[in-house]
Amino acid sequence: MHQKTAAEIDEILRRLAARFPDAGCALDFANPFQLLVAVILSAQCTDVRVNAVTKELFKVYAAPADFAFCDRARLEALIYPCGFYKNKAESLISSSRDILEKFGGAVPEDYDSLLSLRGVGRKTANVVSAEAFKRPAIAVDTHVFRVSRRLGLSEGETPERVERDLMRVIPRDRRRDAHHLLIFHGRYRCKSQRPLCGECDLAPYCVYLSTPAKHDLKKRKTPV
Ligand code: SF4
Repeated sequence: MHQKTAAEIDEILRRLAARFPDAGCALDFANPFQLLVAVILSAQCTDVRVNAVTKELFKVYAAPADFAFCDRARLEALIYPCGFYKNKAESLISSSRDILEKFGGAVPEDYDSLLSLRGVGRKTANVVSAEAFKRPAIAVDTHVFRVSRRLGLSEGETPERVERDLMRVIPRDRRRDAHHLLIFHGRYRCKSQRPLCGECDLAPYCVYLSTPAKHDLKKRKTPV
């Protein structure tokens, strides 16, 4: 695979920024803990639905202590519309208990500490790190995974490999914006099943167009 040059990466990001000037975090939150809750709920769920759920959820449970010792059945009912409500309730309760017992009641800023919270994987830790603490992290969700491969930014077969490649090729001060731009590109144009290639100005940089079979991810296990 041709390794993208710094100039090519810059131009890709410039074109994406021109196409998606409003790209940014779509989850509503008022503090790092609320963001952590929202990201946990967002797995295989739309941001719009998560925002609708958290709007009511945070009226009932707002802080780690509320979640750590909550009525599990009530919590499950509140987050039911987000799907996988039993697993997500467990993650919310477990991570809240860890925050109380190990980190004094505040979401830890240190990346490894974030990652140590039960129910928190790399994607969640990276989103919280980038959005709540303004760190140069890139979370690899299903959109970032797919479009990074299609654009030849990575050939990684796992989210971890793609994340590692993106961290290597995208400058630190561009990573947070790049993350949002890649998500918007994947969500609204470079779609999984029917990418809108006819209206895409990134075609000159796209490796999917020349080798679609190699980059057809339909049968691959992609991250949520
Ligand atoms: S040309 Fe098509 S596959 Fe390539 S980046 Fe654009 S939308 Fe995606």
